[in-house]
This record gives sequence, structure tokens and C-alpha cells, in this order.
Amino acid sequence: MAAKVRPLIAGNWKMNGLKSIALREAKKLATRMGKEKKPGCDVLICPPSTLLAPLHEAVKGSRTAIGGQDCHANVSGAHTGDISAEMLKDAGCGYVIVGHSERRADHCESSKDVRSKAEAAHRAGLRAIICIGETGAERKKGQTLAVIGKQLTDSLPKGSTGENTVVAYEPVWAIGTGLTPTAADVADVHASIRGRLKRRFKDEGVKMRLLYGGSVKGANADELMSVENVNGALVGGASLTAADFWPIVKACL
Ligand code: PEP
Repeated sequence: MAAKVRPLIAGNWKMNGLKSIALREAKKLATRMGKEKKPGCDVLICPPSTLLAPLHEAVKGSRTAIGGQDCHANVSGAHTGDISAEMLKDAGCGYVIVGHSERRADHCESSKDVRSKAEAAHRAGLRAIICIGETGAERKKGQTLAVIGKQLTDSLPKGSTGENTVVAYEPVWAIGTGLTPTAADVADVHASIRGRLKRRFKDEGVKMRLLYGGSVKGANADELMSVENVNGALVGGASLTAADFWPIVKACL
């Protein structure tokens, strides 16, 4: 029988959000979470860096965590425009997303780079949400499991544990498109990821949370969140307002 893994519903706001609206939406979400006596999942918002500190203040004590969307591998130094894992921790973050497909594509980040960022996250005491996923072309060629297998091997650091690492399977063709794999396809990919994690990390691989990401919304959350080995979601567009995000959270409460 599969181990019970506490789900995580994570919102990736990407490059969206100005202070007044962002604070309003985060507070609405935090208020709803605050009303849950014993929530069955963890909730996280990853806003742009400018909003990390004010959002952290706004949701303090509400069971809503804050995370970064990326970090540099180094602690500090001459890296204009970058942010370190230690800085994220200092701003109140508990998590950081690394290796999102938009970073891999727009900033030419390799899995080796992603691994260094995940190591930096662990060094700073952050949980790394490590993203992997195949493109539409790779999927058409039947390469999905091979592609994600290689990304997993190359992106996850040696010291990854169930506590410090979350894996997010995000098929690139499903991000922001309204398209999703079938529940059966998600089950196959997640079973393959779980198998690889178990082989490499033993018991820790059983405990790692595996998120599905790519066009998750209220209408498909129940189905996707009930797939075996799916321990939550990484959500883009539908995480920007509490009204859209809450039904997804509810699917795991
Ligand atoms: C994402 O960017 O991580 C994502 C899953 O986006 P969306 O939910 O909008 O497809």
C-alpha cells in the first residue's frame, strides 16, 4: 500500500501581482485556511520577489506558507538581478521552486543548474520544489518517461529527503494551455517517478511529495488530486485569486 504523504497545494504567481491586489487575495486565502480546524494539506504561495516580505507579514500564523520562484546557487555575490536561497529564507520563505520549465527554457537552465539551486535551497533550510516535465514534441515521440527519468536523476541532489524535497511533474505542453493529460497518464508518470525515487532514496523517496502541475483548476482538481502518487498540485493561472485557488485547495482538505 502507498504511504500516506501530506499533500501540498502550491501557487506559482509567476510575474504577476501588484501589492494591493496581491495582499487582498493572499489574506482571503489565509482567512479561509485559518478557519480549517485540521486541514489535510499544506498551502503555499510563491509570489514575485517584490511581494515576498509583505505577503509573509500578511499571512503570518495562518497556515499559509510563502516561497520563492527561483534562487541562485551562491549565497551572495556579483549576480545582478538574482536572489539567493538565504535571502528567500530571510524574507520568510519556507520553499523555493527550482527548474520550472519557463526558467529552463527562458534562461537556458540545465538539470545540472537546477541541482545546484536545489542544493542551495537545502543549504539555506528551504524545501526545494524541483520541476520536471516533457515537451509536447517529446511526448509525441513516446519519450516522456525517458525525459523525466533523466531530469530526475540530474536535477535531484544527493541529500534529497522527504522533508527537504518536493517533485513537481509539469508536462510543458499542459502549462497555461488548458490541456491536461488523462488521469491514467498522470498515474503512469507518477508511478514511474515514485519508483525511481524509491530506488535512489529508499524510504525518503517514499515520503517525497509528488505534485502534478499544468492547467489545474477547480473543475479538474478532484480528479487529478485523487490519482495515486499525486500528493498535491503546482498551480499557475488558477492560483492568482483566492476564488479560483480555494476549490483546488479544497480537493485536498
Ligand atoms: C505552472 O506554471 O507551474 C503551471 C502549472 O501553470 P498553469 O497552472 O497556469 O498551467
